[in-house]
Amino acid sequence: MHTNAPAGSANRAAASLAELVRFRTVSSRVPAEVDTDEFEAFLAALPRLYPSVHACLEVERVNGLALLFRWPGIAHDADADAGAGNRADVLMAHYDVVPAGDGQAWTHPPFSGHNDGTHLWGRGTLDDKGQLVAILEAAEALLAAGFAPARDVYFSFGNNEETAGDSAAAAAALLTARGVLPWLVLDEGGAVAGGAFPGVSRPAAVVGVAEKGILDVELLTRDPGGHASTPPRMGATARLARAITRIERSPFPQSLPEVTAEMLRRFGPHAPAPLRVAFANLSLLRVPMTWLFGRLGNETNAMTRTTVAVTTLEGSAGANVLAATAKANANIRIAVGDTVAGTVERLRKVIRDPKVELRVVEGNEPTPVSDFAGPQWELLEGCIAATFPEAIITPYIMMGGTDSRRFTGICDAVYRFAPFAMDASDRGSIHAVDEKISLETLGRGVRFYETLLRQL
Ligand SMILES: [Zn+2]
Repeated sequence: MHTNAPAGSANRAAASLAELVRFRTVSSRVPAEVDTDEFEAFLAALPRLYPSVHACLEVERVNGLALLFRWPGIAHDADADAGAGNRADVLMAHYDVVPAGDGQAWTHPPFSGHNDGTHLWGRGTLDDKGQLVAILEAAEALLAAGFAPARDVYFSFGNNEETAGDSAAAAAALLTARGVLPWLVLDEGGAVAGGAFPGVSRPAAVVGVAEKGILDVELLTRDPGGHASTPPRMGATARLARAITRIERSPFPQSLPEVTAEMLRRFGPHAPAPLRVAFANLSLLRVPMTWLFGRLGNETNAMTRTTVAVTTLEGSAGANVLAATAKANANIRIAVGDTVAGTVERLRKVIRDPKVELRVVEGNEPTPVSDFAGPQWELLEGCIAATFPEAIITPYIMMGGTDSRRFTGICDAVYRFAPFAMDASDRGSIHAVDEKISLETLGRGVRFYETLLRQL
């Protein structure tokens, strides 16, 4: 029988998290919409909730509202003496949250931190204040037990992951300037997902080893404009519509990334019979499997290619006025292995209309792929197995972005995983209504970080 974390530490974590959820640390791309008083109040609560952490670790502000803790290691690092830089590990989380939307739609108010005896409710419980609390609770407990890590451990807590993400970039730059070369970076991303794979009853601990690139491209068409009673052929809106239709008709080419193939191999033995055979013979069936993935559903399709979603559309402001310009935004998730430049190039080719202007609004390349073998992966796998023995552990490629992408320049072993069990409805509540974390999984999360920290 698997033993849970002591109820005491789970209760403590829940009480702290409840308090921290009540601060409305809502991110916005519009600086005037960010209530910095709430962020300051959140930061001011931490020393009281985690006194040993604040007494024993160095802490500094980064980029205004982000925090960087340094837990000094006791073992002197020979690599540093050799001029190879100071090896360290970085545990990440962020405390900004997305807006709660219509608070009336929530079962319990989104910033109440309501504890119903089994779950703690509120915006940020899963994304990502719960992870921040699990890290700090683990550190507080280890300090109370007299523990200190062998090497330096940093906690990097972001304040704008949901928007700019520049605080994480600033933290990475700061470590670089100090010659710190992280051996391992662990941030949010995957989780212990129930019902993640069709026909597989065991939960899957999915660890992000890479992130697709994110690219926003503006499509712009122009026209002299004028009165809608005398429209030209192929005006700005019609030209834009044709471009969008062409993009829609020519999806990006498919491939099955090695990470996804590895995921299928790991799921294979637990899958129903026909899939089990298919996954065991993946090297032979790679082409038909890739094809199948493209048609199975939107999620599996997104695993195999660069995807394009036209998100915003803009034409004329008046019902009887021709559009002088028409605009659309294409939100593109670039497959690992593709590039921003190559993606824009292909869009141009598919649209085949020089009168459609393309402008890159913002673009991030896909990240490098962290190894899913080797000492860092094995350490992580061991800690996950110790905490979630029922889970199948597998690497995957994240569709979304995290702060940790900013650390890929200084570390080869960047992983994205929150040590929390989440079923399909939990996962659906992230960035939606009724976000909540089970007290049991919060306790397990604390234990995961204790296990990990003891081995750093
Ligand atoms: Zn997040």
